[in-house]
Amino acid sequence: MGSKPKYDRTFVEDHLSQYGYKLKSEYKTAGTPMLVECANGHIYQTRFQNFYHRKTRCKVCQGLGNYNTKEELIRKLKENNCEYVDHYRDPKIKRTIVKYICSCGGLGESRIDRFLLGERCTECYAERMRTSRKKGKLERMEKLISKSSKEEQ
Ligand SMILES: [Zn+2]
Ligand SMILES: [Zn+2]
Repeated sequence: MGSKPKYDRTFVEDHLSQYGYKLKSEYKTAGTPMLVECANGHIYQTRFQNFYHRKTRCKVCQGLGNYNTKEELIRKLKENNCEYVDHYRDPKIKRTIVKYICSCGGLGESRIDRFLLGERCTECYAERMRTSRKKGKLERMEKLISKSSKEEQ
């Protein structure tokens, strides 16, 4: 009983919350299993040392989980204005791949983790390349305008 736990519950909850995660069970030590809930509501078992040192995160969100349900993928795609077509698991990279009708109307195929980070179909990619230059110019102009209007006040 002599040794004090290295990280106490407050530290763990604090650290988890920085990533949008919540502790859902008792916490004993960094090496004992605990339940956490990710920002998207997936509850799974892990150890704090894995989360903290090895930076392991929710497997479903990373597209690594076997248990992405079809309903969940449909919902995720819908939230991002895309329409679910199909999905499969790529055994080589151990990730879930989704096929979808993109918000631009094009047909897309992406790793679910990349999709959730904003990757879209190749047409969107080409379009983004075209507009990023324009956008950069606009943003610089807007900054200048808001700066000068503040100076006037
Ligand atoms: Zn998750
Ligand atoms: Zn698109």
